[in-house]
Amino acid sequence: MAHDVIIVGAGFGGMGAAIELGKMGIDDIVILEREDDLGGTWHVNRYPGLAVDIASVTYSYSFEPNPNWSRLFAPGSELKAYASHVANKYDLRRLMRFGVEVTGATWDADAAEWEVALASGETLRTRYLITATGFLSQPKLPDIEGIEDFAGTVIHSAKWDDEADLEGRRIGVIGTGATGVQLVPELAKVAGHLTVFQRTPIWVVPKIDFAVPGPVRTMFGALPITQRAARFANSVALEALNTVGVLNYKYGHRFNDLAALLAKAHMFAQVRDRRTRAALTPGYSFGCKRPTFSNAYFPTFARSNVTLESTSIRRVLPDGIEMADGTVHEIDTLVLATGFSLWEKNFPAIEVIGRDGQSLGEFWRETRFQAYEGMAVPKFPNFFCLHSPYSYTGLSYFWTIEAQMVHLRRVFQEIERRAARTVEVTERANAEFLGTMSGRLGRSVFQLGSCEGSRSYYFDPHGEATLLRPSSVIGARRDAHTFPIDDYAFA
Ligand code: NAP
Repeated sequence: MAHDVIIVGAGFGGMGAAIELGKMGIDDIVILEREDDLGGTWHVNRYPGLAVDIASVTYSYSFEPNPNWSRLFAPGSELKAYASHVANKYDLRRLMRFGVEVTGATWDADAAEWEVALASGETLRTRYLITATGFLSQPKLPDIEGIEDFAGTVIHSAKWDDEADLEGRRIGVIGTGATGVQLVPELAKVAGHLTVFQRTPIWVVPKIDFAVPGPVRTMFGALPITQRAARFANSVALEALNTVGVLNYKYGHRFNDLAALLAKAHMFAQVRDRRTRAALTPGYSFGCKRPTFSNAYFPTFARSNVTLESTSIRRVLPDGIEMADGTVHEIDTLVLATGFSLWEKNFPAIEVIGRDGQSLGEFWRETRFQAYEGMAVPKFPNFFCLHSPYSYTGLSYFWTIEAQMVHLRRVFQEIERRAARTVEVTERANAEFLGTMSGRLGRSVFQLGSCEGSRSYYFDPHGEATLLRPSSVIGARRDAHTFPIDDYAFA
């Protein structure tokens, strides 16, 4: 017997979809989750220093404000607790199956159902399939010679080992992305010596963060409108940053120059050594890859137990790392803050075979990365991929989720109204959407900035910056409410 809906992934995206469909009275929903609990990235990531980098008033569902955030930028554990709260409040846990890895899904045209294959060998059937597998869910192990022969402890940031004893150890950390920037100051506090292996520097601006005073939290709880006002103000600021500095770089590039100047001044105030400053200064435009916020990162490099190594790595030895110039750094613990295999393993995260045997991964790789409204692809009926090309909108992921919830609601209402068996986006609508998005990218920092050498994961393997939706949050929300329903074919 087929389920009505299978959702793959019990993070905020999957939970948002389940809440929306539940409101419509669809009850036979199963949420399959690879991990042993819900929360997605906020369940998996628990490295020291983990905190959200979008203010928490905005980084949460608008319909489920949390007056209890302890800081402006809440620590990761609070996001995980918030996810649990949402699951309990909306009674989602009963829909979830944990420790279930989905390997693939195949469209059965005769039955108009998806057959979903699990790693256990079990198969499930469903009328509708929604993948909510996250953008950053497949940890990347760097392809560096000798890494498998390293004799000490290896820890990836997304598979943190709480038992690992780091006190006094000679730690090497590879990676200086948003994770590295949060992790490095924490590791430096406990390491005997810490070597930071940097391939590409990151733009780091000051982090204005503070504990939310008790009376403010009380006010947020008693008068939710005050928290909504704070959310609105912060959201407007983030929306301005994104639309000016990222999407309309053609007109707003001076803003990026200013942001770069701020980051340089921040570094100048915190790093006295000129050579260290030079090594930490990015050579690409601000905005080409996700910049980050920290007040603790730069000062770490002044510590006597920290070395910044910016020469390229030649190979990993059993007891250290050898650089291209022959220098060897002896280490006993290797921390990989090397990010995620986004395009290689996440688009899509499972093998999806649609109509006429079309493979979604092959389609994207052989043509271009594309998805109508960042959610639907021709030849994939009854399928919505929440983490698609052009889906991520604005700076807070919750904006993406909530626009997608509206989109799903409209499609499922129409399915019900027409008593349809199948729904599939038309080739025409998909092509038009792709054309619009591609056109808008022409004004963005990704096409007009100096992004060579940024190694930004915003760019897909074809060299197109298709991860982010080049539209304002307001625009994406409006599109979710107004896209012509005939962009889908119902049968
Ligand atoms: P990332 O941005 O992809 O950074 C990975 C780092 O590892 C980069 O510095 C990369 O260098 C380096 N690296 C990868 N392979 C390497 C190799 N073979 N040799 C040398 N260096 C290598 O990953 P991330 O730092 O985990 O962050 C990913 C995203 O997660 C962020 O952009 C952000 O969206 C999100 N995040 C959010 C928060 C938050 O909200 N608080 C915190 C952490 C992360 P190259 O740049 O040279 O490739």
